[in-house]
Amino acid sequence: MQTYSIFSLARNALSHHKNWEQAWRSPELKTEYDIIIIGAGGHGLATAYYLAKNHGLSNIAVLDRGWLGGGNVARNTVTIRSNYMRDQSIPFYVKSVSLYDNLTRDLNYNLMYSKRSMIDVVQTYPKLREIRRRMLTMDIYGSTYEPITVEELRKRIPALTGGDSESRLPVIGGMVHTDAAVCRHDAVAWGYARGADNLGVEIHQNTAVQKLLRGADGGIEGVETNRGRINAKKVAVVVSGHTTTITDTIGLTLPLKSFNLAAFVSEPVKPILDVVVNCPDIGVYLSQSDKGELVIGGAPDAGQSFRRDIKQNVFEDAVCSMLELFPSFKRLKLLRQWGGTLDIAHDATPIVSKTDIPGLYVSAGWWGGFKAIPAGGYTLAHLIANNEPHELIEPFSLQRFNHLDYVLESGTTTAR
Ligand SMILES: Cc1cc2nc3c(=O)[nH]c(=O)nc-3n(C[C@H](O)[C@H](O)[C@H](O)COP(=O)(O)OP(=O)(O)OC[C@H]3O[C@@H](n4cnc5c(N)ncnc54)[C@H](O)[C@@H]3O)c2cc1C
Repeated sequence: MQTYSIFSLARNALSHHKNWEQAWRSPELKTEYDIIIIGAGGHGLATAYYLAKNHGLSNIAVLDRGWLGGGNVARNTVTIRSNYMRDQSIPFYVKSVSLYDNLTRDLNYNLMYSKRSMIDVVQTYPKLREIRRRMLTMDIYGSTYEPITVEELRKRIPALTGGDSESRLPVIGGMVHTDAAVCRHDAVAWGYARGADNLGVEIHQNTAVQKLLRGADGGIEGVETNRGRINAKKVAVVVSGHTTTITDTIGLTLPLKSFNLAAFVSEPVKPILDVVVNCPDIGVYLSQSDKGELVIGGAPDAGQSFRRDIKQNVFEDAVCSMLELFPSFKRLKLLRQWGGTLDIAHDATPIVSKTDIPGLYVSAGWWGGFKAIPAGGYTLAHLIANNEPHELIEPFSLQRFNHLDYVLESGTTTAR
């Protein structure tokens, strides 16, 4: 694999950038692999990369019905953070943020990773109580949450001029999460794809899995695709919001519901926000991209669906909420809007687990799963390689639904 550096950039500039190697191959599809990963999104590609890098396994095919990195990994609002509520969740996200911190070097791929505090704007006393409780739990696991006064908050976010004492929901405090970051989402998919390909993994785009196949012994035997049957004794379903469309083909029912989550961006403006601002009481969050666009997101749709656009009422709610706190933004023009399908488990915690079908693994329920890509891939690779969960994902197993060992994280993502 060619190394990306200032020297290779200079060398290739001399030949008008015509001699760069392809970042990954397009190999012939074989009829059998040791492992099939369905879904070349962030989680699928990261899993393939860590299977090869940490476990020495490379007879792996990553299959995607579209193009790699064309799913939610390219549709999200790039917030990376570890400010979760439960003892079972926080260490997982702390690990993910720490892997992100070094990922540009690890993958030799510029992820445009930018450490940027996230500030929660608190407007109700129940939220203040909840967030203080989170602060204490996070402290145990080495994540950061620091309370700030309203004055300090307004100093850190000068554009936040709404929410005064006369308003419907006055701002009553803030919480700063200094571990938060943003980075370029496509680059995460491309970086992992290039790294996995270099270690021998095959990535097959335009290869849609239509059906999971089970052998006479009850174990997984492979998949049926639009390009024919492919055999493998281990198959991982890593397709984000579409998990149930695949697991249904083998009669496996999962406690997941699919919802649309949307986002939109403004025209580019001069630097105005150097933190990620999260407003949990009114259900909106925003940050400013390197290009200057404001990247804005809200809550998921109320009803289940596989739609990928944006509902007018959800869009209006998010805009109105933002304008309550940032009234000057009403002069901004909005450029683009889009959505993606998330599958959300009943307790809003991911599922990274074996299933009752030997050889079949699932990684799903990724509501805020962009931040989780490195640790999600790292731990799923461990699970597939050893058939035993990594300690960080033991609480995320499907078994928790049999025993009501829920890891309730509702409310620590966008309001719901
Ligand atoms: C609007 C929006 C904003 C978000 N903001 C954030 C955020 O700020 N922070 C955060 O942490 N998370 C965020 N998320 C969530 C995050 O994007 C996802 O949780 C994460 O990307 C999901 O994992 P993935 O990257 O593997 O999924 P994807 O990129 O969706 O990968 C799944 C892949 O599976 C493929 N696939 C589906 N069906 C099949 C099939 N039958 N056969 C073969 N391939 C198939 C798809 O083509 C796709 O490429 C956001 C999501 C959305 C939609």
